[in-house]
Amino acid sequence: MTVATLLIAGLVVLAAVMLVILELGRRGWMLSSPNQRRVNAHLNAQSMRILSSAVEQSHSGVVIADCSGVIEYVNPRYTQITGYSSAEAVGRIAELMNNEQLTDANNLTLQEAMQLGASWETFMVSVRKNGDRFWQQVTASPILDELGALSHIVLNIEDISERVETQAQMEKLAFYDPLTGLDNRRLFRDRLEQGLKRVRRNRKSMALLFLDLDQFKRINDTLGHDAGDELLCAVAQRLRSCVREEDIVSRLGGDEFTILLSDIGHAEAASVVARKILLSLQTPITLGEQEITISCSIGITVAPEDSMNASVLMRNADLAMYRAKDQGRNNFQYFTDDMNIESQARMSLENELRLAVNNEDFVVFFQPQIDLNLKRICGFEALVRWRHEQVDLIPPDRFIPVAEETGLIIKVGEIVLLQACRQLRSMQLNGMGGYTVAVNLSARQFRDRNLVSMVRKTLRETGLDPRWLELEITESMLMDNIEQAIDILTELKALGVTIAIDDFGTGYSSLSYLTRLPVDKLKVDRSFVSNLPESPRHTAIATAIIAMAQRLRLQVVAEGVETQPQASFLHNHQCSIVQGYLYGRPVDAAGLLDQMKALEQSITGWAAEPMAIPAHH
Ligand code: C2E
Ligand code: MG
Ligand code: MG
Repeated sequence: MTVATLLIAGLVVLAAVMLVILELGRRGWMLSSPNQRRVNAHLNAQSMRILSSAVEQSHSGVVIADCSGVIEYVNPRYTQITGYSSAEAVGRIAELMNNEQLTDANNLTLQEAMQLGASWETFMVSVRKNGDRFWQQVTASPILDELGALSHIVLNIEDISERVETQAQMEKLAFYDPLTGLDNRRLFRDRLEQGLKRVRRNRKSMALLFLDLDQFKRINDTLGHDAGDELLCAVAQRLRSCVREEDIVSRLGGDEFTILLSDIGHAEAASVVARKILLSLQTPITLGEQEITISCSIGITVAPEDSMNASVLMRNADLAMYRAKDQGRNNFQYFTDDMNIESQARMSLENELRLAVNNEDFVVFFQPQIDLNLKRICGFEALVRWRHEQVDLIPPDRFIPVAEETGLIIKVGEIVLLQACRQLRSMQLNGMGGYTVAVNLSARQFRDRNLVSMVRKTLRETGLDPRWLELEITESMLMDNIEQAIDILTELKALGVTIAIDDFGTGYSSLSYLTRLPVDKLKVDRSFVSNLPESPRHTAIATAIIAMAQRLRLQVVAEGVETQPQASFLHNHQCSIVQGYLYGRPVDAAGLLDQMKALEQSITGWAAEPMAIPAHH
């Protein structure tokens, strides 16, 4: 039954009850002539029966009390709601009668309203006979005698516990995070505004901490979302335990949390809490059978020192959090003005990058890869540079992250792939075949729905045989969602291209997933190669990767080879394909032929002639 029908039923009953009372009154002074008395008695008896059965069967609890509040009648629904039988209720004083605190919307107590002849309504918590508390909506109406004095009070009672409960739940959904029970973003914003008012009033500082868990996405994807949820709950608990009762902890969504520390004496106080949080997360969290250690990066901003504007504070804390991530995660950073400058610089970088994408201001450089067994150049890696008017060439590390975040990487990636394929194809048409070209894919590109069709289209347009194209991806891109990664890789491989895992060994991944992935090649990361053969640790890692690649029948390439001892070590350990400054820096297409010639001459015994292009081209 809806609330509306309940209300209507209540009103009907109320009207009925009033009629009963009126009838009762009329009976007293209509007894004039004996005839009329008989007729009236008959009529009265009938309408009384109808009216009282309406009251008896009403869906609302009905209480009729005399003018001093002594209960004269309760209906069965009343007994159902409260647990008090008619015998128990009748003769007692209605509990609302003498309650001075309970007032209606006009600020009147029940007694006052009745004396004024006005109806009265309120919501209240009451107690059933069994001790359970429940919410009731009470409507009271005065029944006046012919002189206008209060004769009776009719109370209409609705049990609205369920309604209150649903409303409370809805409120909870609107303001609280259902997973952790913490305040949600909306409530947090309110509290932040309130906090700022307090800062203005009390002249004390308030700190806003912005927390982001480190590597949460990977943990979530590796362990499954249920475990991820559990982890978030555990983190929420720890955060709560690190702050005072009156401090606010909220979850903004995902793995982002905020903390509001009010009334702090000085900005430094926030770092005590931040340190406490970092420390408390160091204790492993048990999820089922597993023990997980998680860390977080924290950005801190302080009002009124940094700003008195809620949005600005949020942005400050966010910027400081990113700085903490940049500083290697698991630490906290206070907001400083230079972050603003940095973010402005980033904004203008973003704008310029947008223009560059429109104008296709990118050049692809090529770095040779050498097969030490065959003593020849076997391919190139395509490495993009941004040709900037003022700065000349901007290296990829400076703009790829921004291109990633803004999505511009999709277009940049297309430009690079097209230039790379075109270059290789033109070399083939000039009689220089047998080289592969490796093109780097970014995470965003890898997840782009159009990737496969884009690659197919580019191959078709340039006429390059797919087997000469190699796509480089990184471990982290695979780990984000391994099942999806397998699907994408399978589709790419179906085109006929080769797949290499770049920067291998730097990722977070377990090695077992490798066997499941349709990849062809591993590229040993430069950081291991650069310390060969001196560092025992890096030597061990490099040889382990090479051995593993062989076991899995994957090719292996070492990148960043700068010295002859590094090259010899790798060659001796069965890694025959190498790439690095020792052989050549990345150069543009115009410089490539000269570089190749010089390179081929520099090592004795190199094949004098490059391989012929395949017959079908
Ligand atoms: P990467 O794919 O690992 O590329 C190898 C990087 O190492 C290149 O830097 C290369 O110039 C550098 N390098 C090569 N040999 C040596 C060496 O002997 N010593 C040292 N110290 N460095 C060497 P680059 O060109 O600055 O590229 C940096 C990164 O930017 C690349 O790392 C790759 O992740 C990314 N990148 C480059 N081009 C593209 C692209 O077209 N698309 C995407 N998504 N990423 C790209
Ligand atoms: Mg690469
Ligand atoms: Mg690399």
